[in-house]
Amino acid sequence: MKIKHVTEQFSISDQLVPEDLATLAESGVDILICNRPDGEAAEQIDFAELAEAAESHGIRTFHIPFTSGHLDAEITREFGECLEDGKRIHAFCRTGNRSFSAYVAAQARQGAALNDLLELAKKVDIDVSEPLKPYFPEIPMDKTKPANTSSGAAKASFDIVIVGAGSGGIAAASSIKKRNKRLSIALIDPASDHYYQPGWTMVGGGVFDAPSTRRSMGSLIPSGVKWIQQAVAGFDPKANEVQLDNGDSVHYQNLIVAAGLKLNWSGIDGLEQTLGKNGVTSNYRYDLAPYTFKLVSELKQGKALFTQPPMPIKCAGAPQKAMYLSCDHWLKKGVLKDIDVHFLNAGGVLFGVSDYVPALQSYVDRYNANVHFSHNLTAIDGENRVATFKAADSDEPVSMEFDMIHVCPPQCAPDVVASSELADEGGWLDVDQFTLRHKKFDNVWGLGDVMNTPNAKTMAAVRKQVPVVASNLVASLDGREVNLGYDGYGSCPLTVENGKIVLAEFGYGGKLLPSFPAWMLNGTKATRSAWILKKQILPAVYWHAMLKGHEWLAGPKPLKDVQN
Ligand code: FAD
Repeated sequence: MKIKHVTEQFSISDQLVPEDLATLAESGVDILICNRPDGEAAEQIDFAELAEAAESHGIRTFHIPFTSGHLDAEITREFGECLEDGKRIHAFCRTGNRSFSAYVAAQARQGAALNDLLELAKKVDIDVSEPLKPYFPEIPMDKTKPANTSSGAAKASFDIVIVGAGSGGIAAASSIKKRNKRLSIALIDPASDHYYQPGWTMVGGGVFDAPSTRRSMGSLIPSGVKWIQQAVAGFDPKANEVQLDNGDSVHYQNLIVAAGLKLNWSGIDGLEQTLGKNGVTSNYRYDLAPYTFKLVSELKQGKALFTQPPMPIKCAGAPQKAMYLSCDHWLKKGVLKDIDVHFLNAGGVLFGVSDYVPALQSYVDRYNANVHFSHNLTAIDGENRVATFKAADSDEPVSMEFDMIHVCPPQCAPDVVASSELADEGGWLDVDQFTLRHKKFDNVWGLGDVMNTPNAKTMAAVRKQVPVVASNLVASLDGREVNLGYDGYGSCPLTVENGKIVLAEFGYGGKLLPSFPAWMLNGTKATRSAWILKKQILPAVYWHAMLKGHEWLAGPKPLKDVQN
């Protein structure tokens, strides 16, 4: 926790962890305000967990979340109402900047003098031009910027700016550098760690340990690429600029948006408060995947639920993979007969490409799992262990008790993309599905989960998309024709038991696109060779080939071939 004391009564900091609450309580904090929406970053602790820790120390809490650049009058009013005279107040967000902006705006709303507020801004070195604009419209903007903030400095500019240093962002930076070393590239991502998310299913199944799926971000940034550890808070594609969380702007010639998707935990009532306890888990978070295996190992009898939200989601097979690996464990331990297993799927089929369904159905039968289609999880009461669903065939909500529940959260585009000119009406990045170039802005490209392309949102898809974007972008910078295309390839290794996988590989329209001949690896059947690929080969391919710009089995195809 990096604390900045603004006044004797008010302080700000970056993201807290539960252990920080004891320190804040000791320093006399009475009131805690969180200005960060839950789920902004994978490793972020949810507000509910922090509030519980704060309240155990007698600290009152308020959640007033907003995304950077979206401080409005209502948030300012709410924030101001929390600033009780005589109380010690601490506010936090990702860096502390948003909390400080809300504080100065609330003070200005209550009539504080501009000079006093500028003194405070100088003390903590935060630009307050935007939050103060509505209250002091006659003051020139540069007067509101402390002289030593980076916002006053010359604007950084790069040939290529990549937003998001996940699977797509890092791989694209490496791949472009391999094609043209001279291009200047900036990778923008606030996260300190990078995750191999496909490993989380294996963590939940007790096959991998969680730390093997994590590396520090700094260790993965390709040499010669500038890492800006900030979140992008806005896109201005007409000015070829992105705005950062700290108020800076970065200029680009070409932009790649690879910001992934947002896991919308708060879309299910009661879920955030109970995740990680009361038998409620999810392999969709690094810190929770080990809890899945703990629950599975401890359950000897009772009722286990596995849920799947409406599409699109990343790795559409992951919700049922969690079920198969759990059932396999219970079968091998001889307790499956005493466990009532239910798979509750908002959709209407077991898997979107029918060729793989017979193999999957045979495992559903083997494990005697009850499959409920058109059942969408809407609420969880963790303490009473009850899950509620909206079912297509019932006007009334359907409730089910559970001993454990594995939840796959609903998913949507990140707010910063959805609220920008780059989004389609669903909020996703609006690109051509073959060239991956933006439909309106020629110098903007997409990669990975953030796009509106109708492929399976998987790391395997990203592996095939990266060479297409890297080649097309470099060609366009050289004034050459953009002539390579992405065929919609995605892959989902369905872990039907510990030791066997149904390896679904398909492209646009559900066309099967196997990487190996059937005699070597038949993807429509459960095979040991696919398990070895997933467990032993693919993690190494990810860390040592894909993220380093080696394009194993991922060569791009001519555009005209994929368009037909
Ligand atoms: P990500 O890798 O998620 O990266 C997005 C990055 O953007 C993050 O680093 C984030 O910090 C950053 N970011 C977000 N907002 C901002 C912002 N405002 N400014 C700057 N940076 C930002 N795929 C497979 O191929 N096979 C599998 O078996 C498989 N299993 C999976 C199992 C689970 C449980 C999960 C969760 C995923 C699985 N996947 C699998 C899917 C795969 O991990 C994703 O599809 C892939 O990581 C997408 O890559 P991406 O670059 O689009 O996004």
